[in-house]
Amino acid sequence: MPEAPVEAPTFRLFIAGRWVDGVSGETFDSVNPADIRDVVGRFQAGTAADVAMAIRAADDALPAWKATPAPKRGEILYRFGALMAEHKERLARAMTREMGKVLAEARGDVQEGIDIAFLMAGEGRRMFGDTVPSELPDKWAMSIRQPIGVAGIVTPWNFPIAIPCWKLMPALVTGNTVVFKPSSDSPHCATLLVELMDEAGFPPGTINLITGGGAEVGDAIVENPDVNVISFTGSSATGRGIAERAGRRLKRLSLELGGKNAVVVLRDADLDLAVDGILWSAFGTTGQRCTACSRVIADRPVADELVARLEARTRALRLGPGLDEAVDVGPLVNAAAVDKVERYVAIGRREGDLVTGGERGSGVGLEHGHFYRPTIFAGVAPMATIAQDEIFGPVLSVVPVDGYDEAMTAANQVRYGLSASIFTRDVTTAFRAMRDFETGIVYVNAGTTGAETHLPFGGWKDTGNGHREAGHAALDTFTEWKAVYVDYSGRLQRAQIDNQPG
Ligand code: NAP
Repeated sequence: MPEAPVEAPTFRLFIAGRWVDGVSGETFDSVNPADIRDVVGRFQAGTAADVAMAIRAADDALPAWKATPAPKRGEILYRFGALMAEHKERLARAMTREMGKVLAEARGDVQEGIDIAFLMAGEGRRMFGDTVPSELPDKWAMSIRQPIGVAGIVTPWNFPIAIPCWKLMPALVTGNTVVFKPSSDSPHCATLLVELMDEAGFPPGTINLITGGGAEVGDAIVENPDVNVISFTGSSATGRGIAERAGRRLKRLSLELGGKNAVVVLRDADLDLAVDGILWSAFGTTGQRCTACSRVIADRPVADELVARLEARTRALRLGPGLDEAVDVGPLVNAAAVDKVERYVAIGRREGDLVTGGERGSGVGLEHGHFYRPTIFAGVAPMATIAQDEIFGPVLSVVPVDGYDEAMTAANQVRYGLSASIFTRDVTTAFRAMRDFETGIVYVNAGTTGAETHLPFGGWKDTGNGHREAGHAALDTFTEWKAVYVDYSGRLQRAQIDNQPG
């Protein structure tokens, strides 16, 4: 890492197919969380004026993009997916440098973007509606999807390529145009993504990128009446505010919010497998995944043994910069995230028994980064603060319970409902759990993380508002349904009247 500051490159906004400076002339820095002396770049602090220009550009581009046959739109998505595959390593390294996740996970993040680009490219030739028999003779009945208009896309930093792609790809293949505001902790990843989209051939104005603060840029997107649909991923607090504002304007809104995901380990579980699954889910991406496991609900006969095995394996995890391939756990994203983890660890010391961790990372190579040691608390009550709040860091609570029913009550006794998992060798119990978890994702004999792009992704309760990303379900956020009837009988036929007796 550089000792002396090197002049960081300045990046621009992308509006109507051109890279431009923001109106204000102000910029902000994106820094490497593993070494804050390393400035990744300087980014435009976008304003409401920039957002207004981007929305106008998206609106202008809409008629031609809507009129482009969906399979042709899909071909551009396909080219974009192929370009991402070509640049996968470069994107992954840029991601690790900018937001900290270890390189293997960054490669996975890019791959998820590639997968959704290819899946949605195919939707250009599917985008199924229903064709159904009419209840009347000589009449045709079908439904088609149509684009909603200009889509506002607001994303977090923890999956800085995958999550934007999860939103951009379905929005664009269905014929919407987009204004995209990435997290201020990952503007470089977003810029690289949009550069490749430009190269892939998305016409000017179909994709517009505005970097800048949530309050300034995000609000301007949400409040603008010409933005017809908002797709947001981030914290429940921010999502709630957006929902209130978008609700007043009756805007279509998809929210993917926080999680407090549980792994249930029953007395008949394969404990080695459970430990592997828990470690990967709890400390991968330094606990900063929406699907991260932050609660282990342990059946009492195996709880102590499980904690002992988790402790040994957690102590062996290597903490350090994610660009070092030998590192298991990278830094937290920024100083505020470390402060938040510290606050919860202080609460945890009162609510449970500290097993390992509980301190900032220190030592050679960690001096200039936002490092925190993977932390485990045992003997935590189901309703304790650290078992209820989303900490979004490497802090795991082990909650002891007696048997399946108590485990399921504890698992569901949170306001979130994204992912849950159960370790058991009993097939009957596994099926009961698939039924009983109040979450959008359920795993059996694996951790809580890892979604495949062709199934719907999203959560129950405070995790969202009922929409889903990925899979065919992703199209629902970005399309209006239109039911189309063609009556070729040559006479007036009245549904529900002319084909009924009396
Ligand atoms: P965040 O603070 O809510 O920010 C998310 C995005 O919203 C950022 O681009 C942010 O911009 C923007 N924003 C902030 N205030 C805004 C406002 N008033 N109006 C419009 N936009 C605004 O969340 P985060 O810290 O980036 O991400 C972590 C959270 O995301 C966690 O809660 C995690 O569980 C959740 N998450 C959920 C899923 C899921 O699929 N359910 C997936 C990943 C992450 P700035 O960066 O400029 O502030």
